[in-house]
Amino acid sequence: MGKVWFVGAGPGDPELITVKGRDLIARAGAILYAGSLVSEVATRFAPAGCEIADSKEMTLEQISAWLIGKAQAHDTVVRLQTGDPTLYGTLIELVQPLDIAGIEVGVVPGVSSAMASAAAAVESLTLPEVTQTVIFTRLQGRTPMPPGESLEELARHRCTLCLFLSITLLHKVKEALLAAGWRDDSPVLVVHKASWPGEEKIVRGTLADIRDKCRAEKIASQAMIIVSPALGARRWPELKKSKLYDVAFTHRFRKGMKTATR
Ligand code: SAH
Repeated sequence: MGKVWFVGAGPGDPELITVKGRDLIARAGAILYAGSLVSEVATRFAPAGCEIADSKEMTLEQISAWLIGKAQAHDTVVRLQTGDPTLYGTLIELVQPLDIAGIEVGVVPGVSSAMASAAAAVESLTLPEVTQTVIFTRLQGRTPMPPGESLEELARHRCTLCLFLSITLLHKVKEALLAAGWRDDSPVLVVHKASWPGEEKIVRGTLADIRDKCRAEKIASQAMIIVSPALGARRWPELKKSKLYDVAFTHRFRKGMKTATR
């Protein structure tokens, strides 16, 4: 019996898969990938003769059956998921039937689209004395939000919010953030197809105008929304610097000096 690996394919750029993920693909007997986002990754690194299939039109049961069937024929079976497999995927739903079938499972992390979107726009999701917390969330779609996790409640923390699966709900993002006390000129970043060679779009706006700007760019899917008090910090004239690099700060690798130079 083979092992089934859930591999994070990264956000789109085939070079953003981990070395471990790429090595597993290179020796996979069978690969099941999730839609167009990761097809390029699968085909680029797969060995000759590898069975490659798209799960786009399969139900969860069919996906499980496929993985179990292939694990009976190959040592290494790869389930490729976009970004990181632990975020908004179907990891646990797919692991449970494999556990029942007695098939070994491994998970290889991937670069989430939240990270790729911040990188694309040269933004830091945390900034000293501005925000030290990041919330990964989404607006309620067909999947209901658990109690206490409405965007309005989460937005009251005033930290960085990375909103997955919500680009068609920008009006609700605005409503929830205004209700939580954010100003309507708060900066908002939208990144469409982060890291995709030649297809990435970066849109900057405010709570008031981001929806119109995204409409003008025809962005209606595959987009990350980031709202954060740290957005745009690259151009701020005054920054609170990280203590780690401060001349007066002592840590394990360096002794701080009493007289700071500024
Ligand atoms: N596991 C994935 C998320 C899957 S949910 C991850 O870690 O990134 C799908 C949502 O992820 C999309 O609705 C969109 O919000 C976001 N997404 C996925 N790929 C993206 C990309 N390349 N650029 C921007 N957002 C992306």
